[in-house]
Amino acid sequence: MNVLIAGAGIGGLTLAAGLQQLGVRVQVLERAPVLKPVGAGLVVQINAMRALAEFGLDAAVKQAGAVAAQTALLDWRGRVLTASSLTPWVEKFGQPVVCALRSRLHDALGSHVAPGTVELGQAVKAYAEDDDGVTVTLESGRTLRADLLVGADGLHSRVRAQLLGEQPTRYSGYTSWRGVCSAAGLALADTVSESWGEGRRFGLVPVGFDEVYWFATANAPPGGKDSAQPDELLARYGDWHAPIPQVLRGTPAERLIRTDISDRPPVTRWTSKRVALLGDAAHPMTPNLGQGACQAIEDAVVLAKLLGAGADVAASLERYEQRRVPRANAVVEQAHRLGAVGQWENGLARTVRDGAMRVFGERLGRSGLDALYGFEPSGA
Ligand SMILES: Cc1cc2nc3c(=O)[nH]c(=O)nc-3n(C[C@H](O)[C@H](O)[C@H](O)COP(=O)(O)OP(=O)(O)OC[C@H]3O[C@@H](n4cnc5c(N)ncnc54)[C@H](O)[C@@H]3O)c2cc1C
Repeated sequence: MNVLIAGAGIGGLTLAAGLQQLGVRVQVLERAPVLKPVGAGLVVQINAMRALAEFGLDAAVKQAGAVAAQTALLDWRGRVLTASSLTPWVEKFGQPVVCALRSRLHDALGSHVAPGTVELGQAVKAYAEDDDGVTVTLESGRTLRADLLVGADGLHSRVRAQLLGEQPTRYSGYTSWRGVCSAAGLALADTVSESWGEGRRFGLVPVGFDEVYWFATANAPPGGKDSAQPDELLARYGDWHAPIPQVLRGTPAERLIRTDISDRPPVTRWTSKRVALLGDAAHPMTPNLGQGACQAIEDAVVLAKLLGAGADVAASLERYEQRRVPRANAVVEQAHRLGAVGQWENGLARTVRDGAMRVFGERLGRSGLDALYGFEPSGA
């Protein structure tokens, strides 16, 4: 078996590492001329850590970041709406929640892929499939032949556009900023927190190596630009609870990025005869559950195991869809709904919401996380 993967993101690298361990020949075609992952930090949750452990990739990821001990939801003044220790899930599932800079996570996964596997500056343009395999054409005009093409090429996937037709993304109604600053003097310990205000949210994520990753959201029309970003953000969040203003003041402009938040309505078809989609190419989601990369990792581990088990491509892809489509699509919808509630502006609605979170937040979180973390990556 010979597999071509479009995209050396988190999903593509995990799949390449898994397939190589199972003796499958893999080549990763990455559009970017240098691997410089954009996007500050990521939370790799227990379900993704369990999946990574199937191929022994969990240890490198743990070393790449910091283990979180608890999560907290606050209001914008810093009053706790709900707080939970992660210990019960760590004990139940045997893996922690790891928070890491995206660049470190990429390096950790890349260290498990054989040298020479990833070819940079190779943008996939189109494919043609037949009963025996798939011919892939790059933007440069070069062609390659394989048994299977996996489109792990992200939100604006070319492979998806050919498989399912060009479709617009679904703008969420809010934009985001992400940044990284020094953790010195912030006393954040090992808590991942999110604070909710009027149509705005702010998250703080210690990522180890004395650094903190943060994200902020605000309701806005799509396509907006900031002039002087850190100052612009202080105008929006400068009166929020400590240490948010301090974090913004301590973030250099070059470590700040703005991204409009979009997903796509779920689809049930991710494969054809010799082509499969994975990660954001298959099921882009809003980041409200911190699961986009986690679900990409689950996809990659399940697909690698199916292909590595020696069944034919058609049977493997059919099983891949059965195992992954309902699971990932449910997370897409849940994340979409949660984001909409988190961005509420109406004062009365927010008071009711925050009150409900105080009373029911922990219980809701408990049942949700059991389902989220309980996915069995090694299941047949
Ligand atoms: C604000 C924000 C916060 C987030 N926080 C979290 C979080 O805490 N936890 C979490 O799990 N997820 C989070 N996510 C989601 C996560 O970033 C994505 O779901 C994840 O990166 C998807 O991985 P992927 O491998 O599918 O795609 P990507 O990481 O997007 O990788 C796709 C790769 O394909 C390449 N490519 C594109 N087109 C082509 C082409 N034509 N040919 C070849 N290569 C191509 C790209 O250059 C890129 O390297 C967040 C997202 C946002 C926006």
